[in-house]
Amino acid sequence: MKRKINIRGSLREQEPLKNHTSFRIGGKADLFAEPLDEVDLLNLLYDLKEMEIPWFILGGGANILIADKGIRGMVISMARLDSVVLKGKILKLGAGLPVSDGAAYAADKSLKGLEFIYSMPGSVGGALWMNARCYGGEIAESLKGGEIINEKLEREYIPFKKEDWAYKKSPFQNRNCIILSAEFDLREGNPSDLWSLMREIRKDREDKGHFRAPCGGSTFKNNRAFGAPSGQIIEETGLKGLRLGGAAISDWHGNILINEKNATADELDKLIRLVQKKVLERTGFLLEPELIRVGDWEDNDAESD
Ligand SMILES: Cc1cc2nc3c(=O)[nH]c(=O)nc-3n(C[C@H](O)[C@H](O)[C@H](O)COP(=O)(O)OP(=O)(O)OC[C@H]3O[C@@H](n4cnc5c(N)ncnc54)[C@H](O)[C@@H]3O)c2cc1C
Repeated sequence: MKRKINIRGSLREQEPLKNHTSFRIGGKADLFAEPLDEVDLLNLLYDLKEMEIPWFILGGGANILIADKGIRGMVISMARLDSVVLKGKILKLGAGLPVSDGAAYAADKSLKGLEFIYSMPGSVGGALWMNARCYGGEIAESLKGGEIINEKLEREYIPFKKEDWAYKKSPFQNRNCIILSAEFDLREGNPSDLWSLMREIRKDREDKGHFRAPCGGSTFKNNRAFGAPSGQIIEETGLKGLRLGGAAISDWHGNILINEKNATADELDKLIRLVQKKVLERTGFLLEPELIRVGDWEDNDAESD
């Protein structure tokens, strides 16, 4: 008989994952846990290892497309690991903290270096994992290092090394690890200057329609070799507004695919492939999805991440 999973935080069965993603799409998780802190998380991981239950780490759910059939095993939400510790100019943020809240906190403390990421959806852990970038900044730029739980379920500090980071690439993607926290080495700044820039950034996102419909931000990576951003290529190919079931290329941005009318993951996935096919036919460029496809897909061999 299976032994019981012990956790101080919450544990639920058959959790609808659409409630945890920016697309508002995704089937159910067999099991869904929200550990309270690092000790709770570690105990949970020991239990899962012993019971041979696979797990997936969920940050803010802002860059993933979860299958309609959901995720087998345990989904671990990092939401409660949202600590904030400031020592001098070193800001240590828990992986589950919304990264935008980290930028706001830094600005309030007269610290510069994270303002570019204000109003971007997602968690600190997800931003590190994805090496999130926007408005001329990249999360790796002010990073001093990150603490992880490694493959042996031990804590490990990964100091920042420039060569480990590239466009949309972080050292965490090559490992089966969990990011616990990130340390940023920030500079002195003026809070009112920082806030006026941050408000501008948020307004620009609003004007560009980032929050107009459920989406995952940019669907495709940009590729310099293609000579133009993916959104422009899609628009120039005449695909803007293309629809498939409840999924659509937004009318306002070629690279923002949206859940317009209760789209299924399957519809969104088919639309992504259709855009890839049509752009390839018309331009010769193969767009690479930025979204990570996770869970129980019919064709798991053809994962696009
Ligand atoms: C409206 C909108 C605008 C966006 N704009 C931008 C933008 O300008 N620039 C940009 O780069 N992105 C953008 N994105 C995409 C998204 O916000 C980022 O990729 C973000 O960093 C994802 O973080 P997350 O916490 O939501 O990660 P999730 O989507 O939850 O997860 C992404 C991956 O990271 C892994 N992961 C998450 N947390 C951890 C952890 N603690 N330990 C180990 N692995 C972890 C997950 O397992 C998964 O593989 C946008 C998204 C939306 C919806």
